[in-house]
Amino acid sequence: MRMSSSWRWQLSRAMRLALRWCRLCRPQRGGRGGGTKPWVSGRFLELWSYSKLLLKSLYFNSLSNSDTLLDCAFEPVYWIVDNVTRWFGVVFVTLVILLTTSVVVIIYLFVLPTILSAYPLHWVVWHLCCGHWLLVMVVFHYYKATTTSPGHPPKDKVHIPSVSICKKCITPKPARTHHCSICNTCVLKMDHHCPWLNNCVGHFNHRYFFSFCLYMTLGCIYCSISSRELFLEAYSAIESYYMTPPPMETLRETTAHKCIIFLWVLTSSVAVALGGLTLWHVILISRGETSVERHINRKETRRLREKGKVFRNPYHHGNMNNWKLLLGVEKRSHWFTRVLLPSSHLPNGDGIMWDWTFSRRDPMAI
Ligand SMILES: [Zn+2]
Ligand SMILES: [Zn+2]
Repeated sequence: MRMSSSWRWQLSRAMRLALRWCRLCRPQRGGRGGGTKPWVSGRFLELWSYSKLLLKSLYFNSLSNSDTLLDCAFEPVYWIVDNVTRWFGVVFVTLVILLTTSVVVIIYLFVLPTILSAYPLHWVVWHLCCGHWLLVMVVFHYYKATTTSPGHPPKDKVHIPSVSICKKCITPKPARTHHCSICNTCVLKMDHHCPWLNNCVGHFNHRYFFSFCLYMTLGCIYCSISSRELFLEAYSAIESYYMTPPPMETLRETTAHKCIIFLWVLTSSVAVALGGLTLWHVILISRGETSVERHINRKETRRLREKGKVFRNPYHHGNMNNWKLLLGVEKRSHWFTRVLLPSSHLPNGDGIMWDWTFSRRDPMAI
Protein backbone atom coordinates (compact mmCIF):
# COMPACT_ATOMS: atom_id res chain seq x y z
CA MET A 1 0.00 0.00 0.00
CA ARG A 2 2.76 2.39 1.04
CA MET A 3 4.83 1.28 -1.96
CA SER A 4 2.08 2.07 -4.48
CA SER A 5 1.34 5.50 -2.96
CA SER A 6 5.08 6.31 -2.98
CA TRP A 7 5.30 5.36 -6.66
CA ARG A 8 2.27 7.49 -7.45
CA TRP A 9 3.81 10.42 -5.63
CA GLN A 10 7.11 9.99 -7.50
CA LEU A 11 5.28 9.84 -10.85
CA SER A 12 3.25 12.97 -10.18
CA ARG A 13 6.40 14.76 -9.02
CA ALA A 14 8.22 13.80 -12.22
CA MET A 15 5.24 14.96 -14.29
CA ARG A 16 5.06 18.28 -12.47
CA LEU A 17 8.76 18.85 -13.11
CA ALA A 18 8.40 17.91 -16.81
CA LEU A 19 5.48 20.30 -17.15
CA ARG A 20 7.46 23.13 -15.63
CA TRP A 21 10.33 22.35 -18.01
CA CYS A 22 7.92 22.53 -21.02
CA ARG A 23 6.59 25.87 -19.79
CA LEU A 24 10.10 27.24 -19.63
CA CYS A 25 10.77 26.02 -23.19
CA ARG A 26 7.73 27.89 -24.52
CA PRO A 27 8.58 31.48 -25.66
CA GLN A 28 6.69 34.02 -23.54
CA ARG A 29 4.22 36.27 -25.29
CA GLY A 30 4.58 40.08 -25.53
CA GLY A 31 7.05 42.58 -24.05
CA ARG A 32 10.06 41.20 -25.96
CA GLY A 33 11.52 44.22 -27.61
CA GLY A 34 15.02 44.45 -29.11
CA GLY A 35 17.05 41.65 -30.75
CA THR A 36 16.12 37.99 -30.27
CA LYS A 37 19.76 36.75 -29.96
CA PRO A 38 20.46 37.78 -26.31
CA TRP A 39 16.99 36.51 -25.36
CA VAL A 40 17.74 33.10 -26.96
CA SER A 41 21.11 32.72 -25.20
CA GLY A 42 19.63 33.88 -21.85
CA ARG A 43 16.75 31.47 -22.31
CA PHE A 44 19.16 28.67 -23.20
CA LEU A 45 21.26 29.30 -20.06
CA GLU A 46 18.11 29.37 -17.94
CA LEU A 47 16.97 26.08 -19.45
CA TRP A 48 20.40 24.53 -18.99
CA SER A 49 20.61 25.48 -15.32
CA TYR A 50 17.03 24.33 -14.75
CA SER A 51 17.76 20.95 -16.42
CA LYS A 52 20.83 20.53 -14.23
CA LEU A 53 18.79 21.34 -11.12
CA LEU A 54 16.04 18.97 -12.27
CA LEU A 55 18.53 16.13 -12.76
CA LYS A 56 20.22 16.76 -9.40
CA SER A 57 16.88 16.96 -7.58
CA LEU A 58 15.94 13.51 -8.87
CA TYR A 59 18.87 11.71 -7.23
CA PHE A 60 19.79 14.16 -4.45
CA ASN A 61 20.93 12.58 -1.19
CA SER A 62 22.67 14.47 1.61
CA LEU A 63 25.08 11.50 2.06
CA SER A 64 26.10 11.42 -1.64
CA ASN A 65 29.75 12.07 -2.36
CA SER A 66 32.43 10.78 -4.73
CA ASP A 67 33.07 7.74 -2.47
CA THR A 68 29.39 6.73 -2.58
CA LEU A 69 29.35 7.07 -6.38
CA LEU A 70 32.51 4.99 -6.70
CA ASP A 71 31.05 2.37 -4.34
CA CYS A 72 27.89 2.22 -6.48
CA ALA A 73 29.90 1.85 -9.69
CA PHE A 74 31.99 -0.99 -8.24
CA GLU A 75 29.08 -2.69 -6.45
CA PRO A 76 28.86 -5.62 -8.97
CA VAL A 77 32.62 -6.28 -8.63
CA TYR A 78 32.38 -6.21 -4.80
CA TRP A 79 29.40 -8.55 -4.97
CA ILE A 80 31.30 -11.11 -7.07
CA VAL A 81 34.46 -10.92 -4.89
CA ASP A 82 32.45 -11.21 -1.64
CA ASN A 83 30.46 -14.21 -2.86
CA VAL A 84 33.49 -15.99 -4.30
CA THR A 85 35.43 -15.44 -1.03
CA ARG A 86 32.43 -16.66 1.00
CA TRP A 87 32.17 -19.88 -0.99
CA PHE A 88 35.92 -20.39 -1.28
CA GLY A 89 36.15 -20.14 2.52
CA VAL A 90 34.76 -23.67 2.82
CA VAL A 91 37.25 -24.95 0.20
CA PHE A 92 40.17 -23.24 1.99
CA VAL A 93 39.22 -24.66 5.40
CA THR A 94 38.98 -28.17 3.87
CA LEU A 95 42.38 -27.63 2.26
CA VAL A 96 43.98 -26.60 5.58
CA ILE A 97 42.53 -29.68 7.32
CA LEU A 98 43.59 -32.06 4.51
CA LEU A 99 47.14 -30.69 4.20
CA THR A 100 47.70 -30.64 7.98
CA THR A 101 46.38 -34.21 8.26
CA SER A 102 48.62 -35.37 5.40
CA VAL A 103 51.69 -33.83 7.11
CA VAL A 104 50.82 -35.51 10.44
CA VAL A 105 50.27 -38.90 8.73
CA ILE A 106 53.61 -38.67 6.86
CA ILE A 107 55.41 -37.75 10.11
CA TYR A 108 53.87 -40.75 11.93
CA LEU A 109 54.50 -43.19 9.07
CA PHE A 110 57.95 -42.21 7.85
CA VAL A 111 59.72 -39.63 10.06
CA LEU A 112 58.89 -40.86 13.59
CA PRO A 113 60.04 -44.48 12.97
CA THR A 114 63.44 -43.14 11.81
CA ILE A 115 63.71 -40.91 14.91
CA LEU A 116 62.75 -43.80 17.22
CA SER A 117 65.24 -46.19 15.66
CA ALA A 118 68.23 -43.90 15.03
CA TYR A 119 68.21 -41.15 17.70
CA PRO A 120 69.42 -41.34 21.34
CA LEU A 121 66.75 -41.45 24.07
CA HIS A 122 66.86 -37.73 25.06
CA TRP A 123 66.33 -36.67 21.42
CA VAL A 124 63.45 -39.13 21.05
CA VAL A 125 61.77 -37.70 24.17
CA TRP A 126 62.35 -34.12 22.93
CA HIS A 127 60.86 -34.89 19.49
CA LEU A 128 57.84 -36.67 20.98
CA CYS A 129 57.10 -33.83 23.44
CA CYS A 130 57.79 -30.90 21.09
CA GLY A 131 56.01 -32.42 18.09
CA HIS A 132 52.87 -33.34 20.03
CA TRP A 133 52.76 -30.02 21.91
CA LEU A 134 52.88 -28.11 18.60
CA LEU A 135 50.23 -30.40 17.09
CA VAL A 136 47.85 -29.87 20.03
CA MET A 137 48.37 -26.08 19.93
CA VAL A 138 47.78 -25.89 16.16
CA VAL A 139 44.61 -28.02 16.25
CA PHE A 140 43.19 -26.25 19.33
CA HIS A 141 43.78 -22.70 18.03
CA TYR A 142 42.56 -23.48 14.51
CA TYR A 143 39.37 -25.03 15.86
CA LYS A 144 38.77 -22.07 18.20
CA ALA A 145 39.62 -19.44 15.55
CA THR A 146 37.16 -20.92 13.04
CA THR A 147 34.31 -21.63 15.47
CA THR A 148 34.51 -18.57 17.78
CA SER A 149 32.40 -15.62 16.71
CA PRO A 150 34.54 -12.46 16.38
CA GLY A 151 31.83 -10.43 18.16
CA HIS A 152 29.15 -8.13 16.74
CA PRO A 153 27.54 -4.94 18.08
CA PRO A 154 24.20 -5.69 19.79
CA LYS A 155 21.31 -5.12 17.36
CA ASP A 156 18.63 -4.77 20.04
CA LYS A 157 20.39 -1.98 22.00
CA VAL A 158 20.48 1.50 20.48
CA HIS A 159 22.21 3.35 23.32
CA ILE A 160 25.69 1.87 23.10
CA PRO A 161 28.90 3.92 22.98
CA SER A 162 29.40 4.43 19.24
CA VAL A 163 31.42 6.61 16.92
CA SER A 164 29.26 6.34 13.79
CA ILE A 165 26.37 4.51 12.14
CA CYS A 166 27.00 1.62 9.76
CA LYS A 167 25.59 2.53 6.34
CA LYS A 168 24.88 -1.14 5.55
CA CYS A 169 23.49 -2.43 8.90
CA ILE A 170 21.94 0.95 9.93
CA THR A 171 23.08 0.30 13.52
CA PRO A 172 25.47 2.21 15.84
CA LYS A 173 29.12 1.33 15.30
CA PRO A 174 31.30 1.26 18.45
CA ALA A 175 34.97 2.34 18.24
CA ARG A 176 37.22 -0.12 16.32
CA THR A 177 34.15 -1.79 14.76
CA HIS A 178 34.04 -2.21 10.98
CA HIS A 179 31.59 -3.71 8.53
CA CYS A 180 32.61 -6.98 6.85
CA SER A 181 31.04 -7.19 3.42
CA ILE A 182 31.72 -10.96 3.21
CA CYS A 183 29.98 -11.78 6.52
CA ASN A 184 27.56 -8.91 5.79
CA THR A 185 27.65 -7.65 9.38
CA CYS A 186 29.62 -5.32 11.65
CA VAL A 187 32.51 -6.92 13.54
CA LEU A 188 33.91 -5.69 16.87
CA LYS A 189 37.61 -4.70 16.69
CA MET A 190 37.74 -6.09 13.17
CA ASP A 191 41.17 -7.12 11.95
CA HIS A 192 40.34 -8.75 8.62
CA HIS A 193 38.21 -11.46 7.02
CA CYS A 194 40.32 -14.61 6.82
CA PRO A 195 39.33 -17.05 4.03
CA TRP A 196 41.59 -19.73 5.58
CA LEU A 197 39.37 -19.65 8.68
CA ASN A 198 36.17 -18.84 6.76
CA ASN A 199 35.57 -16.36 9.57
CA CYS A 200 36.26 -12.77 10.46
CA VAL A 201 39.12 -12.03 12.84
CA GLY A 202 37.78 -9.72 15.53
CA HIS A 203 37.71 -9.00 19.24
CA PHE A 204 36.80 -12.49 20.49
CA ASN A 205 39.00 -14.62 18.20
CA HIS A 206 41.99 -12.36 17.53
CA ARG A 207 44.15 -14.25 20.07
CA TYR A 208 43.16 -17.64 18.60
CA PHE A 209 44.02 -16.41 15.09
CA PHE A 210 47.42 -15.06 16.12
CA SER A 211 48.28 -18.17 18.20
CA PHE A 212 47.30 -20.40 15.28
CA CYS A 213 49.58 -18.46 12.91
CA LEU A 214 52.44 -18.58 15.44
CA TYR A 215 52.15 -22.29 16.30
CA MET A 216 51.55 -23.30 12.68
CA THR A 217 54.73 -21.44 11.66
CA LEU A 218 56.69 -23.06 14.53
CA GLY A 219 55.23 -26.46 13.61
CA CYS A 220 56.24 -26.05 9.96
CA ILE A 221 59.76 -24.92 10.95
CA TYR A 222 60.00 -27.93 13.29
CA CYS A 223 58.86 -30.37 10.54
CA SER A 224 61.13 -28.76 7.97
CA ILE A 225 64.23 -28.99 10.20
CA SER A 226 63.40 -32.50 11.52
CA SER A 227 62.89 -33.95 8.04
CA ARG A 228 65.79 -32.13 6.36
CA GLU A 229 68.20 -35.13 6.43
CA LEU A 230 65.48 -37.48 5.23
CA PHE A 231 64.58 -35.00 2.48
CA LEU A 232 68.18 -34.89 1.18
CA GLU A 233 68.31 -38.70 1.20
CA ALA A 234 64.94 -38.96 -0.58
CA TYR A 235 65.98 -36.33 -3.12
CA SER A 236 69.18 -38.15 -4.09
CA ALA A 237 67.24 -41.47 -4.17
CA ILE A 238 64.67 -39.98 -6.57
CA GLU A 239 67.46 -38.64 -8.78
CA SER A 240 68.88 -42.19 -8.97
CA TYR A 241 65.53 -43.48 -10.35
CA TYR A 242 66.58 -42.07 -13.73
CA MET A 243 69.89 -43.95 -13.81
CA THR A 244 70.26 -47.03 -15.98
CA PRO A 245 69.74 -49.61 -14.69
CA PRO A 246 67.32 -48.11 -12.10
CA PRO A 247 67.96 -49.14 -8.45
CA MET A 248 65.79 -51.85 -6.96
CA GLU A 249 63.40 -49.98 -4.65
CA THR A 250 60.30 -51.37 -2.98
CA LEU A 251 56.95 -49.61 -3.31
CA ARG A 252 57.11 -48.56 0.35
CA GLU A 253 60.53 -46.94 -0.21
CA THR A 254 59.48 -44.98 -3.30
CA THR A 255 56.27 -43.86 -1.55
CA ALA A 256 58.30 -42.79 1.50
CA HIS A 257 60.70 -40.75 -0.68
CA LYS A 258 57.87 -38.95 -2.48
CA CYS A 259 55.97 -38.30 0.74
CA ILE A 260 59.05 -36.87 2.48
CA ILE A 261 59.77 -34.55 -0.45
CA PHE A 262 56.13 -33.39 -0.35
CA LEU A 263 56.37 -32.89 3.43
CA TRP A 264 59.57 -30.85 3.27
CA VAL A 265 58.50 -28.64 0.32
CA LEU A 266 55.06 -27.99 1.85
CA THR A 267 56.24 -27.23 5.40
CA SER A 268 59.15 -25.05 4.20
CA SER A 269 56.91 -22.99 1.89
CA VAL A 270 54.21 -22.56 4.57
CA ALA A 271 56.87 -21.64 7.15
CA VAL A 272 58.14 -18.81 4.90
CA ALA A 273 54.69 -17.51 3.82
CA LEU A 274 52.94 -17.84 7.18
CA GLY A 275 56.08 -16.67 9.00
CA GLY A 276 55.91 -13.40 7.05
CA LEU A 277 52.23 -12.95 7.92
CA THR A 278 52.87 -13.75 11.60
CA LEU A 279 55.73 -11.24 11.71
CA TRP A 280 53.42 -8.59 10.22
CA HIS A 281 50.85 -9.29 12.94
CA VAL A 282 53.59 -9.15 15.61
CA ILE A 283 54.37 -5.59 14.43
CA LEU A 284 50.66 -4.63 14.38
CA ILE A 285 49.95 -6.03 17.86
CA SER A 286 53.07 -4.32 19.28
CA ARG A 287 51.72 -1.02 17.90
CA GLY A 288 48.21 -1.66 19.27
CA GLU A 289 46.68 -1.64 15.77
CA THR A 290 44.50 -3.98 13.75
CA SER A 291 45.04 -4.50 10.00
CA VAL A 292 42.15 -2.12 9.23
CA GLU A 293 43.45 0.51 11.67
CA ARG A 294 46.91 0.33 10.08
CA HIS A 295 45.50 1.90 6.89
CA ILE A 296 43.33 4.40 8.79
CA ASN A 297 46.17 5.44 11.10
CA ARG A 298 48.60 5.82 8.21
CA LYS A 299 46.16 8.18 6.46
CA GLU A 300 45.50 10.07 9.68
CA THR A 301 49.25 10.42 10.38
CA ARG A 302 49.75 11.95 6.90
CA ARG A 303 46.76 14.27 7.28
CA LEU A 304 47.87 15.57 10.67
CA ARG A 305 51.50 15.90 9.56
CA GLU A 306 50.36 18.30 6.83
CA LYS A 307 48.73 20.39 9.58
CA GLY A 308 51.94 20.25 11.65
CA LYS A 309 50.42 17.88 14.24
CA VAL A 310 51.46 14.43 15.46
CA PHE A 311 49.07 11.45 15.38
CA ARG A 312 48.87 9.28 18.52
CA ASN A 313 47.13 5.91 18.45
CA PRO A 314 44.67 5.92 21.41
CA TYR A 315 44.79 2.10 21.67
CA HIS A 316 48.57 1.84 22.00
CA HIS A 317 49.38 1.17 25.66
CA GLY A 318 53.07 0.30 25.23
CA ASN A 319 54.51 -2.76 23.46
CA MET A 320 54.40 -5.19 26.39
CA ASN A 321 50.98 -4.03 27.62
CA ASN A 322 49.51 -4.51 24.13
CA TRP A 323 50.69 -8.13 24.22
CA LYS A 324 49.36 -8.69 27.74
CA LEU A 325 45.98 -7.27 26.70
CA LEU A 326 45.78 -9.46 23.60
CA LEU A 327 46.94 -12.66 25.30
CA GLY A 328 44.96 -12.02 28.50
CA VAL A 329 48.05 -12.22 30.70
CA GLU A 330 47.13 -10.83 34.13
CA LYS A 331 49.76 -12.52 36.26
CA ARG A 332 53.12 -14.16 35.68
CA SER A 333 51.79 -17.76 35.65
CA HIS A 334 49.43 -16.86 32.79
CA TRP A 335 52.37 -16.82 30.37
CA PHE A 336 52.51 -20.58 30.91
CA THR A 337 48.83 -21.47 31.41
CA ARG A 338 47.29 -19.05 28.88
CA VAL A 339 50.01 -18.70 26.22
CA LEU A 340 52.01 -21.93 26.15
CA LEU A 341 49.04 -24.21 26.88
CA PRO A 342 45.58 -24.30 25.23
CA SER A 343 43.27 -21.85 27.03
CA SER A 344 39.71 -20.68 26.29
CA HIS A 345 39.76 -17.54 28.46
CA LEU A 346 37.85 -14.52 27.16
CA PRO A 347 39.68 -11.37 26.01
CA ASN A 348 39.80 -8.17 28.07
CA GLY A 349 36.69 -6.01 27.72
CA ASP A 350 33.52 -6.46 25.70
CA GLY A 351 34.83 -4.97 22.43
CA ILE A 352 32.34 -2.08 22.70
CA MET A 353 33.83 0.12 25.41
CA TRP A 354 37.48 1.04 24.93
CA ASP A 355 39.75 2.72 27.45
CA TRP A 356 41.17 5.62 25.45
CA THR A 357 42.92 7.39 28.30
CA PHE A 358 44.64 4.24 29.49
CA SER A 359 48.29 5.24 29.66
CA ARG A 360 49.86 3.63 32.71
CA ARG A 361 53.18 1.93 32.07
CA ASP A 362 52.27 -1.38 33.70
CA PRO A 363 48.54 -1.90 34.03
CA MET A 364 48.73 -5.57 34.91
CA ALA A 365 50.62 -5.20 38.22
CA ILE A 366 53.00 -8.07 37.59
ZN1 LIG B 1 27.60 -3.06 9.36
ZN1 LIG C 1 33.92 -11.38 7.65
